[in-house]
Amino acid sequence: MELSLTGTSAPLTAEACAAADGADPLARFRDEFILPEGVIYLDGNSLGARPASAAGVAARVLEQEWGEGLIRSWNSAGWFELPGRLGDKLAGLLGAGPGQVVVTDTTSLNLFKALAAAVELQRSADPARTIILTERDNFPTDIYIAEGIAGFLGQGYSVRLIDDSLPLEAALGGDVAVVALSHVNYRTGAMWDMAATTAAIHDAGALAVWDLAHSAGAVPVDLAGSDADFAVGCTYKYLNGGPGSPAFLWANPRHHAAARQPLSGWWGHAKPFAMEDSFAPAEGIGKFLCGTQPILSLAVAECGLDIALAASSELVREKSLVLTDLFITLVEARQGSHPLELITPRDHARRGSHVSYVHPEGYSVMQALIARGVIGDYREPGVLRFGVTPLYVGRLDVFNAVEALFDILDNRLWDTEEFRTRLQVT
Ligand SMILES: *Cc1c(COP(=O)(O)O)cnc(C)c1O
Repeated sequence: MELSLTGTSAPLTAEACAAADGADPLARFRDEFILPEGVIYLDGNSLGARPASAAGVAARVLEQEWGEGLIRSWNSAGWFELPGRLGDKLAGLLGAGPGQVVVTDTTSLNLFKALAAAVELQRSADPARTIILTERDNFPTDIYIAEGIAGFLGQGYSVRLIDDSLPLEAALGGDVAVVALSHVNYRTGAMWDMAATTAAIHDAGALAVWDLAHSAGAVPVDLAGSDADFAVGCTYKYLNGGPGSPAFLWANPRHHAAARQPLSGWWGHAKPFAMEDSFAPAEGIGKFLCGTQPILSLAVAECGLDIALAASSELVREKSLVLTDLFITLVEARQGSHPLELITPRDHARRGSHVSYVHPEGYSVMQALIARGVIGDYREPGVLRFGVTPLYVGRLDVFNAVEALFDILDNRLWDTEEFRTRLQVT
């Protein structure tokens, strides 16, 4: 079995993988992260690994900025500027410009703000558009938030779900106000063509809101080039921001003046410290802030952003595809009669940065993998997810992970009471 690992054909052996890792221009980034000995971490699409620099930054914020600076640090340590300053950094990874992104709140909250703003822009343009269109297959929070907005608005607003029986083109009627899609599907890893899809949405008179949770830091994103309207996403996944680190929100500058969002808290006010008795939105992206930000989490999130910015995003994408190709090829070579079904697209243009398989005993298989230090995750129904973060995962990791997977499958090592027991977080 032959596979191109370095541009030349190499046999699929541990030695070949190790040799290719040795020549990998991104290999040096592995040292920027702390990972426990003996762990192969294939869940950076759910919670990224910890940057080595995070401990020092957290200590600085706790001891100097909070401990010594106290409230003065809002000014002297730049706390107040963090959402916009980090947003400007992140913009470089999203095909966006300065002053267009804020790092704040959660993805769910930012989606609420972006969807509400988009719906309201449409309501003034064409009140007959009352549908928020999203995917049945979407990450549940995206559907739930859309339902929450439609329910709150009442007046005929509702959510329409696209699926195999109702594809996007068929669902895009003259009643659609906004389309909210996840660029990379959390379950299958399937990726939309953002530019072409946004164009189709605009042709139908709707606005396009993109969720980049599984895209930012992993796949090329060109918000400006795609002419999208709004985008949101996580920093704790491929951007390695830390557990629960603040999410981001981008608004196309053409909407900055007219857009309004309903979480009109004082941080989004034009003059927060004027303490006025009525809300007047900040100009620009600042109007999407709401209240006081989690400064420790924001400060630590910058560590992951800085690493992502130091790496070439072209190389990250190239290596991500090499690793997911390698995973798929190795599984095929060993698959035999095991009921493992690849649900991730083989087409590079349609693939994000994780590989997923359905297996009838998926939950137990993943528990058995995790017990031996190969950490992926499980999503209903029956889905084993393996995420590759090219900054700290190599070919040998993928090789060893697939070896472990087939040791578990070939020997039914998943088939124990322990591995069947469901944990709270899968
Ligand atoms: C991970 C993920 C989220 C998470 O939202 P939170 O508000 O951070 O919990 C939202 N949408 C998608 C598509 C995701 O993959």
